[in-house]
Amino acid sequence: KSGFVAIIGRPNVGKSTFLNRVIGQKIAIMSDKPQTTRNKIQGVYTDDDAQIIFIDTPGVHKPKHKLGDFMMKVALNALREVDLILFMVNAEEGFGRGEAFIIERLKEVDTPVFLVINKIDRVHPDDLLPLIDRYKDLYPFAEIVPISALEGNNVERLVEQIKQRL
Ligand code: GDP
Ligand code: MG
Repeated sequence: KSGFVAIIGRPNVGKSTFLNRVIGQKIAIMSDKPQTTRNKIQGVYTDDDAQIIFIDTPGVHKPKHKLGDFMMKVALNALREVDLILFMVNAEEGFGRGEAFIIERLKEVDTPVFLVINKIDRVHPDDLLPLIDRYKDLYPFAEIVPISALEGNNVERLVEQIKQRL
């Protein structure tokens, strides 16, 4: 099994931390320069029965100027070409306009989407359920997976769920 997975989400939600945990620091390519590269391979996860190619897709978030519109089209086309999208959000910050904007864009794409709620180590479990319900109302996510990229909670399970989709 082999496939392409795009990780999207606002800055600082934990995308690089997640990739480094899954792939290992030696292979994951760290770059926090926004909107300078397109469809860049960030890292490749390989095990006995699967290969997951993680793609960085800048420009999916709210554009601030004209070039942003163009980048948005490029980003949406990139999302159409992958097998799965991981939309990562920060459990601690809850739902905001940045997330709403990305969800509207996801509605323009047919690719299945996992909602990955990261930083669950920072919130009480009771606060997680209302957030999950909120997101469920907004978009038919293929999976909703709470994780802590920093501490590793649920990360292996998410990788298994990704493999099942390839
Ligand atoms: P990116 O901009 O989406 O790539 O986010 P980063 O991976 O650079 O993470 C931004 C900040 O959030 C860093 O200080 C990380 O250490 C922190 N962070 C990432 N994941 C977690 C998590 O699961 N829990 C906590 N508490 N912090 C996290
Ligand atoms: Mg990053």
